[in-house]
Amino acid sequence: MSQLISKDQKHVWHPFTQHHTAGDPLPIVKAEGVYLYDETGKSYIDANASWWVNTHGHGHPHIGKAMSEQFQTVDHIVFAGATHPKAVELAERICGHLPDHFQKVFFSDNGSTAVEIALKMAIQYWHNKGEHKQRFLAMHGSYHGDTFGAMSVGQRGYFNAPFEPLFFDTDYLDFPTESNEVAILERAEILLSSGDFAGLILEPLVQGAAGMRMYSAEFLDRLTAVAQKHDVLVIFDEVMTGFGKTGKLFSMDHCQNKPDFVALSKGLTAGVMALGLTVTSNKIYEAFLGEETTKALLHGHSFTANPIACAVACANLDLFEHEETWQNIDAMVDWNQTFAQELSQFDFVANIRQQGTILAFEVQDTSTGSASVGEASYFSDLKTRAYEFFLERGVLLRPLGNVIFVNPPFCITEEEYGRVKEVILEFLKSL
Ligand SMILES: *Cc1c(COP(=O)(O)O)cnc(C)c1O
Repeated sequence: MSQLISKDQKHVWHPFTQHHTAGDPLPIVKAEGVYLYDETGKSYIDANASWWVNTHGHGHPHIGKAMSEQFQTVDHIVFAGATHPKAVELAERICGHLPDHFQKVFFSDNGSTAVEIALKMAIQYWHNKGEHKQRFLAMHGSYHGDTFGAMSVGQRGYFNAPFEPLFFDTDYLDFPTESNEVAILERAEILLSSGDFAGLILEPLVQGAAGMRMYSAEFLDRLTAVAQKHDVLVIFDEVMTGFGKTGKLFSMDHCQNKPDFVALSKGLTAGVMALGLTVTSNKIYEAFLGEETTKALLHGHSFTANPIACAVACANLDLFEHEETWQNIDAMVDWNQTFAQELSQFDFVANIRQQGTILAFEVQDTSTGSASVGEASYFSDLKTRAYEFFLERGVLLRPLGNVIFVNPPFCITEEEYGRVKEVILEFLKSL
């Protein structure tokens, strides 16, 4: 065992990891472009985009330059009562890329806090207006993060069972399939017309952690319309779907009806720095204005609007403003379509689905003989077998239960994508 691994095991507690049964962590000592390198020099294609965050590849020179220049200019400052150019630039540019009513940006550090802040803003918005609306409507299978508010609106179950008695109450809609859409909309209509709901929160078009489950923009538009008809605030959690994943900059760019809040993180900083944004309208912002301090959003984090993270997020936007990035995203969409066709030859491959650069499918669980349709069964051993098979062949993919998905950085070449595909096909043929 390498020193790095033995010292890691002595002192490090990893996320989402049962250390009693987990294998050794992958000792990554270098990352460049689409590749990760371990201590022995072996390379891995990062087909998981480092937990869905990386947009333009590792060690991108434009990102690195922005980072070091910002460090030499303003490294970090308090953000209450002070400001700095990169926060202002980022806020202005993000609003420029979102629909016109998005005019105010609140900074935090990650996806969970971006969601948490949207929930708090929605509750306090109604509170400040003298209305008692504290309930949220969410969707089964959703994942919004690991802080208490975010867990309270997420899927309940084995990931958060010890905490469940402490969550606030949330109502859940079923995940839409062709046969139940009308029933879901009717139920939403009944619930949301009650006047009890502060907000509706959704992962738009793709539920990430549930196993890359996808639904249509038409359905999303209809659901958003029901909420807005009843004056219920709509929160899109675009922490995963933002920044090109769905083939457009944001999921909401596929929709007619736009939300009141959007939570952004992950791809926001090209996958390099920790930063979260909660973006909303002047209508919401203005409800927090008044003579009393208590009307304000009394929330903040030590590293709010960290200038280096903001500079990196601006540099990430520079790259998204390059034609070449979109050419590559469009090419990935095509490669995924072709790959989806090829996958359909396997009769034990089910629910092949694609939204832009994300391609996902389910492998029938051969031990039970049943395809777990829809939700990922997280404890399926296929996940471990597949993960190790791919790693041995130099591809890093982390299946969600029996769901295998590809979600690589947008700088991946046709040849590198071809290698990912080849390894997946080899795995399927081995079953
Ligand atoms: C990852 C994720 C979060 C949580 O973000 P963190 O940065 O991990 O806290 C929230 N919502 C969605 C949709 C996510 O995919």
